Order: sequence, then C-alpha cells, then structure tokens
Amino acid sequence: MSKPFVAGNWKMNTDSRGGIELAERIACGSLEIVSKKVTVAVCPPFVYLGAVANALRASSVAVGAQNMYFESKGAFTGEISASMLKDIGCTYVLCGHSERRHVIGETDELINKKVVAAVSGGLLPILCVGELLAEREASQTEKVITRQMKNGLAGLSAEKVLAVTVAYEPVWAIGTGRTATQQQAQQVHDFIRRLVAEMYDDQTAAEIRILYGGSVKPGNAADLMSQQDIDGLLVGGASLNADDFLAIIQAAV
Ligand code: PEP
Repeated sequence: MSKPFVAGNWKMNTDSRGGIELAERIACGSLEIVSKKVTVAVCPPFVYLGAVANALRASSVAVGAQNMYFESKGAFTGEISASMLKDIGCTYVLCGHSERRHVIGETDELINKKVVAAVSGGLLPILCVGELLAEREASQTEKVITRQMKNGLAGLSAEKVLAVTVAYEPVWAIGTGRTATQQQAQQVHDFIRRLVAEMYDDQTAAEIRILYGGSVKPGNAADLMSQQDIDGLLVGGASLNADDFLAIIQAAV
C-alpha cells in the first residue's frame, strides 16, 4: 500500500484569519508524522488558497482546491484554471465532489473534462464518486460507481490515471454523521480496485489510491484505515477542528 493520504475539505467554511490559524495548527501538530508516514492536504475555499498555501509553505502539508474549470484561460467569468491553482501553490484539486454533482448539478462529462485538464495541468485530482441512499437501497451502488469511474476517467492512460486519487464518498454518509461501516466501505473499495484492474491493469489497480469519505471522525478513522483497500480518508466537517483532524491523521498512520 502507498503512504496513507488524509485530505481535509473545508467546503464553504472559515474566514481568512481562521483559515490561516487552522492551517498553522495542522502544520505544527503534524510536524513529526507528515512527510515520513502520511501525506496530508487541506482544501480551503478558493479565496483563501493563496494565504493558506503561504502559511503552509515551510511545512509538508499540501494544499488542494475544491474545484476548478477545465479551460486554461479566457472568457469564463468566475472560473479558475488548473494553471492558476498551480501558480498559487496548489497540488491537488477535488473533482466531482457530491455537493458539486448533486447541489450544483455537475455531470460526469464535465467532471471528466476537469480531471483530464487537472492532470495535463500538473495537478493531482481527487475524483469523488459515490451513490445516493436511494441508489444503495435499490442495489445500484456498483452500477453508479462504474458509471462515475468510467466516465470520470475517460481518456486517461494507465500512466496518467495514477495521478488521480479516487475518493469513495457514499452521499448518504456525507455530513450526516452516518458513516459507512468499515465492511460497507471495504466492499466498495474492493469493487473500485477490481474495476480499475478491468479498465487498466492489475498493477494500476494495486497502485491507485482510494480514499474513503463520509462522516470520518477521530473515533472511526482507525477502523476504516484498517481495511485492506482503504488508502486514506477525505474528511469534511472534522477537518475544521485542528485537534480532530490531527487525531484522524494520527489514526491513519
Ligand atoms: C466531504 O466533504 O467530502 C465529507 C466527507 O464530509 P464529512 O466528513 O463532513 O461527511
């Protein structure tokens, strides 16, 4: 297994001072474990990316954006390109987070354009996939994941797809306090890995990083990380509290 990866998605939270303080506390608290044993990233809102990247410059904590646009520049009012994110110090970018799929209405096709543009722009995309509760209850989980994975990764070679981290985030577990059991999560992670083997090859499947996300807390992080196919965690709410996020990082090692 590759080095565990823990990413914090701050969503539309914090302010400039609070974001910098949170980043500094995470950098300071994770000094000894980050870089050697675990990869850590935080994903603040666009407007705080530069300030947070600056605050983390001397640390091993990386910065990611929560979204991007697939075009490189031009008349796309309100949008942000991969090269702008690189320029400001970002390493990662979330693509297809469930809130963007289900609240903003992003399609698989749009998400795919973002993933491809992120990889060609030198960013490391985190492609989020996951089923709605109704889809799980209708036994559609594998069908939905297959569609999101095949469409989301379309056009990427085996070499390029390794720049992508997949995050399995069952929508019914995001921000609800209802975490998937470790068995439920492992089952889907195993399915995703087998799907990558089918789409690419066994080595790619073994190497690709698959994170779990959905109400991860200090109390359930270690159990989730004990599962064979869970390579890391994507954390929303609990990443806004430095002590909780640090405890999750510790549990992932
Ligand atoms: C997320 O935003 O990706 C997430 C998993 O949120 P939460 O941890 O709050 O469920």
